[in-house]
Amino acid sequence: MCFVTKTFALPTSSRRQVLDITNEVATIVKNNDVSSGLCTVSVPHCTCAVYINEHEEGLVHDVLTLVSGLVGEQEWHHNRIDHNAGAHLGATLLGNFVQIPVEGNNLVLGTWQRIQLIELDGPRHRRVNVTLIRG
Ligand code: ZN
Repeated sequence: MCFVTKTFALPTSSRRQVLDITNEVATIVKNNDVSSGLCTVSVPHCTCAVYINEHEEGLVHDVLTLVSGLVGEQEWHHNRIDHNAGAHLGATLLGNFVQIPVEGNNLVLGTWQRIQLIELDGPRHRRVNVTLIRG
């Protein structure tokens, strides 16, 4: 078994936005010869998250509306420090990693599944870690 972690940078441009990072991850998988194994995509940040779902414009809008509705303008305690509690809470709900099987140097995803980073406190410079485990 062999582990390797590769990182790529990703600038975000809005306070809240969703970015499709599937192609960047797939390229790393192909360039690192993972015939069979696991790919973990994680973000080393407290105010963004990653998830897998369809990257359709309407659904992206719905996800942002859902998160805003859940963690929106309330008197959170953390807002006394830096006024971004909603971003921390949204990231907590969605999680900071996803894991995808790899077969034949390809991510095993459903037809409509895309790996997405959701920015909740942008714009910022984000880093995405891609950890590959070869079987
Ligand atoms: Zn904070």
